[in-house]
Amino acid sequence: MEARGAVNCYVCEKCRCFTMTINMSAGVTSFMCRCAHCDGMAQSSFYKFRPPTNGGVASVTVQEMWYRPVKKWFDTADAETQRHILRGGLIKAPLGTHEILCDALEVNSSTKEIADFMESAYGCRPDFKDPFFKVPAEK
Ligand SMILES: [Zn+2]
Repeated sequence: MEARGAVNCYVCEKCRCFTMTINMSAGVTSFMCRCAHCDGMAQSSFYKFRPPTNGGVASVTVQEMWYRPVKKWFDTADAETQRHILRGGLIKAPLGTHEILCDALEVNSSTKEIADFMESAYGCRPDFKDPFFKVPAEK
């Protein structure tokens, strides 16, 4: 899980442009995503981007947001996307107005807290036996 408010930079393999994203909730984001500037795929820089701290001025344009969707969006998603969301995954959309699910999950939330939240929000629990379910171990 990555923190709420974290900014990431994806670098396009085709046009080399940056796509900047921000996390509206704590959650799991993708290693690769579609470039915001062309039809290429962009690779995560693993949240290494940090705003300058030397008192200078930087021009930073955040283009897309990662967020936790509301139940009516979840209900229409395909099974693979639902699986991603139940395991703490966020979905990405251009900045703008989106209905986002508000929650109190944080990077150190336990698997039980995540599962309880998912059940109350979406009506189903994640599968903890899934080897790709990457969240901190239950406390
Ligand atoms: Zn590109």
